[in-house]
Amino acid sequence: MRPFQKYFCAIAISLWAVSPGNAQLLVAPTLHIKAEAGGGRVALTLDACGGRTDTRILSALVENKIPATIFVTGIWLKHNAAAVEIMRAHPELFELENHGGRHVPAVDTPQKIYGIRSAGSPEAVLAEVESGAAALAVTGEPAPKWFRGATAEYSPSAIAMIRKLGFKIAGFSINGDGGSLLGAKATARRIAAANDGDVIIAHINQPTHAAGEGVVQALLALKAKGLTFVRLDDADGVGDEGTTD
Ligand SMILES: [Zn+2]
Repeated sequence: MRPFQKYFCAIAISLWAVSPGNAQLLVAPTLHIKAEAGGGRVALTLDACGGRTDTRILSALVENKIPATIFVTGIWLKHNAAAVEIMRAHPELFELENHGGRHVPAVDTPQKIYGIRSAGSPEAVLAEVESGAAALAVTGEPAPKWFRGATAEYSPSAIAMIRKLGFKIAGFSINGDGGSLLGAKATARRIAAANDGDVIIAHINQPTHAAGEGVVQALLALKAKGLTFVRLDDADGVGDEGTTD
């Protein structure tokens, strides 16, 4: 992008963000896990937004005994029974958490985020969070303690509501696969750069995307380097924007 175009875009974005009565300013919270003696711990979080299951990733996790926190939606649960069965057969590896009922961004004013229509009202945010938890309850999994909204962006008022429901909100510190749209190499490079305390986000629902191949390569590289993988329930997660405190 040429500099003047960039400048123009920045102005357009900032005008859009502050227009009163229009779209709310959204936040994309970060999450880290607290350092511990010995160090070298990272948390792998994988979103299952909808669609299918990337068995390249699922098999690699099982074969290499890499624990992960999987954020599942009600939509994904409905169409991926075989994958859920594998995850439930390995409770020592997989923690299933709440990614919403219908994969609707947890933003309580009507707007679009990356082209996805927001929940649009406080009631709709509540319905998204509660239906996600209800869908998980049907699988027999323990009640979820973490929530991550579609697009991982929130209105501050939605964050407060979700916290009141008793959920912590899962941000991240490394965007591993750029919404599963990055190539294998770029994905592997981002994830392999993880250090002690990082929380990685990637996707486990896009079996046809090249990114999944990069996820597997990087996880094996991190493991070979001696890093330990922890699930969000096994670590002290510290988020900003009031997401965990
Ligand atoms: Zn998602």
